[in-house]
Amino acid sequence: MRLGILGGGQLGRMIALAGYPLGVTSTVLEPAAGSSAAQVCGHVAGEFDSYQALYELAKASDVVTFEFENVPVESARWLAERVPVFPPPRALKVSQERLAEKEFFTSLGIPTPPFAAIEDESDFRASLTEIGLPSVLKTRRFGYDGKGQAVLRTQADADAAWQKLGGRPLILEGFVPFDRELSLLAVRGRDGQIVTYPLIENTHIGGILHRSISPAPDTGEELTERAAEYASRVLSELNYVGVLCIEWFQEGPRLLANEMAPRVHNSGHWTIEGALTSQFENHARAVCGLPLGKPDAVGFSAMYNFIGSTPPAAEVLHNPDAKLHLYGKGPRPNRKVGHVTLRAGSAEELAEKLPEWDRAFERKE
Ligand code: AMP
Repeated sequence: MRLGILGGGQLGRMIALAGYPLGVTSTVLEPAAGSSAAQVCGHVAGEFDSYQALYELAKASDVVTFEFENVPVESARWLAERVPVFPPPRALKVSQERLAEKEFFTSLGIPTPPFAAIEDESDFRASLTEIGLPSVLKTRRFGYDGKGQAVLRTQADADAAWQKLGGRPLILEGFVPFDRELSLLAVRGRDGQIVTYPLIENTHIGGILHRSISPAPDTGEELTERAAEYASRVLSELNYVGVLCIEWFQEGPRLLANEMAPRVHNSGHWTIEGALTSQFENHARAVCGLPLGKPDAVGFSAMYNFIGSTPPAAEVLHNPDAKLHLYGKGPRPNRKVGHVTLRAGSAEELAEKLPEWDRAFERKE
């Protein structure tokens, strides 16, 4: 089976690596030469809106997927007329625009923070009255890792944020004083089979994921089942195929959907060592029409991102619990260049070792 992947970052690299043992060989479409993924699989060099490049990818592929959600929807649709494309382009369209995404969740009965659409300054003033402070002003498109957003605590914050972000379509969300952030990975096969990973607890620093723990501690069955049920509504509505990630705010017993990513996700990297089947393997299986593997956690995992640069491998591997993943990317501020996953045999062992791991892989803003 030949898998085409739009995007050549570390997510594409890990999908390609997971596909090899299954006989799935990958080719990525990516403008840059020597990208993280292109180091381990085939490469078509070109822009994501170049029909020549898309044509070459289609020729080299039995099925096409994507590893980042800002692929032009038109490119995905054009490809879908020539070769099966999973997840469906509609999933891209919904998740590229924060307002459409929140309206989509709402239409499926999935709770979200309160939100209001903003086109101009009078909408902004009205939404501030409706939603109140504190709140979060966000651009509707091309926001990721906390970019294009501002927390508004005072009227002065609101004025400054409007100066910076005003003039393009925005969304104002109520600020959720959440207890913690969670994410859920769910996978749907071509035959409609759905499997769901355990809930993951995520910590962000400066808007960028720092640490993921899975299974998320102190999570009752009810919360996990509710998250899985919400995810299955999204998967079924979109006739989705592949891995989907939904990010949540937990506030007491409440679960509010923040956003979704129609792809494998950073908060699921622990699944490579910490689950019976990794998110990357299950994504490859799903889009290639193969049966899905079990998503159960094997023990307890903590994953830490390396941002900007990586410590020397020997330093990380000095810890016998550590599994190191380097993405073959050069150092650059705020760039995800690798991660480490540490495993424990029990929740108690994880809780005991976590302070030491937190110190070892501390990230300074
Ligand atoms: P996002 O790009 O929407 O995922 O936002 C990045 C981070 O900002 C989230 O992971 C949260 O930590 C924080 N954040 C975003 N929206 C809200 C909100 N409505 N209330 C509180 N915190 C938020």
